[in-house]
Amino acid sequence: MTIADTSNAFLNDHTRISSAESFTFRCHPQVRCFNACCSKLHLVLTPYDIYRLHVGLGISTNDVLKEFTDLVLADDTGMPCFRLRMLNTREGSCPFVRESGCSVYENRPGACRAYPLGRAARIDTRGKHEERFFLVEEAHCKGFAELSSWTPAQWMLNQGLGLYNESNDKYMRLMTMQQDAPEKVPAVKLGMLTMALYNVDGFQKFIARMSLLDRLDMDDDRKQAILHDEEQTLLFGFAWAEMILFGSSADLTLRQ
Ligand code: SF4
Ligand code: SF4
Repeated sequence: MTIADTSNAFLNDHTRISSAESFTFRCHPQVRCFNACCSKLHLVLTPYDIYRLHVGLGISTNDVLKEFTDLVLADDTGMPCFRLRMLNTREGSCPFVRESGCSVYENRPGACRAYPLGRAARIDTRGKHEERFFLVEEAHCKGFAELSSWTPAQWMLNQGLGLYNESNDKYMRLMTMQQDAPEKVPAVKLGMLTMALYNVDGFQKFIARMSLLDRLDMDDDRKQAILHDEEQTLLFGFAWAEMILFGSSADLTLRQ
């Protein structure tokens, strides 16, 4: 289950929970099932997940992608996506799980933070936002027997999902636009698209090297932010990706 997974299978397989409803859940090292959920996962990482792993591990996004993910092209859109690669062992554990828990806890992927909630978001091309929450109740998870009670909004806040959701919604908007496009992403666009969305440190250097921002009508403060603040580079990356895919972006104006 991931934030990017809005497939009918996901929507149909899990219990929908309204924003006013609450659920009981707590995960901590004393639960009998501790770490049981960190293996054999099909976890698609969003651009923001990759950025946070790059920050947390202190390695380049290229190395994050190479060492910990597999590239898959989305069946319906041809968009490049990266799946967290489980270890090639009988257990098929996540590469980041340790006896003491998640070794990238502060920068763990959004889907790991959200669990046991799934969040399906659809953002239309005008930015209209629709979100639904689902409870992913798995028999092996003893966290549901704990007494802490949460609404979806309280859980999202408690798990620090604000920045993840903000960035992931921009990604979802792009995915939605590409779903409505007449053709899948052509192979020739995959390299630049991958750099703009998943290789924030490399993209920042590319922007500077190619003087990319000089071709855009943009104030100096924004240019400096894009060149020096990777969160801003990633935001620019979403707009640049839109430009690559569709020839224009509501957030960017080319210099006349
Ligand atoms: S299975 Fe549930 S309670 Fe157990 S470690 Fe995973 S999230 Fe926590
Ligand atoms: S990133 Fe952390 S929380 Fe997510 S599956 Fe791996 S070890 Fe578990």
